[in-house]
Amino acid sequence: MPDLPPPTLRVRIDKAALTANWRALDAMSGQAKAGAAVKADGYGLGVDRVVPVLRDAGAEDFFVAHWCEALAVLAHIPASQLSVLHGPLSAEDARFARATGVRPVINSLHQARLWLESGGGLCDLMVDTGINRLGISPHEASDPLITRLEIDTLMSHLASADEDSPMNARQLAAFRQVLQNVPARRLSLANSAGIALGSDYAFDLTRPGLALYGGVPRSELDGAIAQVAYPQAAILQLRNLSAGDSVGYNAMFTASRPMRVAVVSLGYADGFLRCRGPGAALLHGESKLPILGRVSMDMIVVDCANAPELREGDWLDVAQHLPDAARESGLSQYELLTLTGRRFR
Ligand SMILES: *Cc1c(COP(=O)(O)O)cnc(C)c1O
Repeated sequence: MPDLPPPTLRVRIDKAALTANWRALDAMSGQAKAGAAVKADGYGLGVDRVVPVLRDAGAEDFFVAHWCEALAVLAHIPASQLSVLHGPLSAEDARFARATGVRPVINSLHQARLWLESGGGLCDLMVDTGINRLGISPHEASDPLITRLEIDTLMSHLASADEDSPMNARQLAAFRQVLQNVPARRLSLANSAGIALGSDYAFDLTRPGLALYGGVPRSELDGAIAQVAYPQAAILQLRNLSAGDSVGYNAMFTASRPMRVAVVSLGYADGFLRCRGPGAALLHGESKLPILGRVSMDMIVVDCANAPELREGDWLDVAQHLPDAARESGLSQYELLTLTGRRFR
């Protein structure tokens, strides 16, 4: 096969910013060490891009959600540094964990039994302190299935760390109760937003995800966190519209005067959802190019009035400063990152 021709969608990953974000979060974690959540293909940015950078920055504890995500991460780090948050659902999962050396996060008595029956070994334990998602209940900590576990990291997860909610202190108190009765090598509570709640929440290991990749879940992280992903899309065609011409599916935009427009190689299949269309713009340098009509699967159309010098094949910037893009689109910063499509080079 010949080499692939140049792409019409690309995303630049600012590795220096990713390194600086991890170091900033590690420093803000105080005595605790920062790990790195790299689930969902490194929050959409690509495990093969982000894991080596985070490893070289100093991260030694990585988290994915699914077993199927483990192998790609293991290409870059030792198995003893990886935990699978969903834990084992079947004997096959437990066997896979034992064969690879990846640590399962045990989330229930059932998972504890599966793990012990498979032969057990070092694992992590999730305790639910109020999010009611995964994790054993605090009162289950004394169950013989749990007391038999060999626990590396005892963890819990905050539900509202991105808000000034009384729930944060309640979860902290519940976690402190549990840790007195569960022997573990390390303790871990804070995600990205939790790191900004201060040293009480840091324990031995923090688990940032979003903020590594440029997300800012709390204002305390403003200034400390830099944008990491810079997507760009190429112009496929320039067109001239006459007054009365409409654009795109369902003719949602009609020109009231002659216009020069660009058809751009970016659509909802690339994670640029329809809600990012109306009222928004692509950028060329400082020039704003308003989006006209509906976002299609593979294309959008933009008004070129502010950049008459544009040519077919030129690159346009997708504004992806996450706090701003989230405010403008109504999507969460997490969604904006993890939607990043697979056609980006
Ligand atoms: C995803 C996840 C994290 C990372 O959370 P962010 O809000 O992205 O920092 C940490 N811990 C657990 C258990 C998670 O599921």
